[in-house]
Amino acid sequence: MTTDTIARQAKRVVRRGLRQVANALDRPTLVLIYHRVTTLQTDPQQLAVGPEHFRAQLRWLKRHYRIDRFEAPAADDGRRSVVITFDDGYADNCLEALPILEEEGVPATFFVSTGTIGTDREFWWDELERLLRIGDGHPPRIDLPLGDARFAAPTATAAERIAVYDALHPRVKALGPAAREAFLAALAQWSGRGAAGRPTHRPMTVDELRRLAASPWVTIGAHTDTHTCLSRLSPREQLEDIAVSRRKLEAWIGRPVTVFSYPFGGSHDIDEASVQACVDIGFARVAANWPGTLHRWTDSLQIPRCLVRDWPAAEFAERLDGFWLE
Ligand SMILES: [Zn+2]
Repeated sequence: MTTDTIARQAKRVVRRGLRQVANALDRPTLVLIYHRVTTLQTDPQQLAVGPEHFRAQLRWLKRHYRIDRFEAPAADDGRRSVVITFDDGYADNCLEALPILEEEGVPATFFVSTGTIGTDREFWWDELERLLRIGDGHPPRIDLPLGDARFAAPTATAAERIAVYDALHPRVKALGPAAREAFLAALAQWSGRGAAGRPTHRPMTVDELRRLAASPWVTIGAHTDTHTCLSRLSPREQLEDIAVSRRKLEAWIGRPVTVFSYPFGGSHDIDEASVQACVDIGFARVAANWPGTLHRWTDSLQIPRCLVRDWPAAEFAERLDGFWLE
């Protein structure tokens, strides 16, 4: 065992010890993050949870914990609580997740990125997958401007195109909305595919969003308009991207939107200006995307969340046990 490994393990033991003390002092709430409930042929970002797994996960949660709403946790009744959240605004949130949530009687908050709602486009990470990884007949080489640089690589085989997708994902994530759109347009032209998205990957229509919002089990939150990594934008651009999403949502659903989640939501994806923008807009609670639990001392504008994958109930239960000590 290397010194590094020993140091890492020691840190983990200390962290878990501290979490146990924190959980004993103040009953924790665990906020879970989902993206999609559906069945997909390909899912490189592992965003989809199968409908039957989702139902089994909810049933397991109901048996073991109180389920709270993100915007308004219930008073402490001695039980640990869990909150269900969804990011992005995929059509399956309304078509597949909502009926299961309603049948099981479980509340959830859906953070919706508004720019693609009601369009025939896919979210940009799905578009990248569609243009590079789906089908064949691609040119044998890619060589395109990417922001202020160029990106060139072989693309003759499926393995080469997967490698290009992996290399491009973080680089496209680092672009602002205009540079990203320019790159995706060039990529679509290069691949010989159009801009229209796959029906399996579409965002909600405005009608579907309204249907989702009309459920007594559902809260709608904002998630920016362009789904850009906020720390890549100026403070003014961040405020605008967040405010536009809230404004559009309020106009569509006809009620105030008081909660928000940061796109991507990792510690490098936001900066001080992102948090300040949420203060200025007046959000009551804001979700981040790093593991941890919610305590009464947690910053309500940077609430940790744990990511759920397509796990069967037994694996879900095991992972959940670990989440309390993350
Ligand atoms: Zn997102």
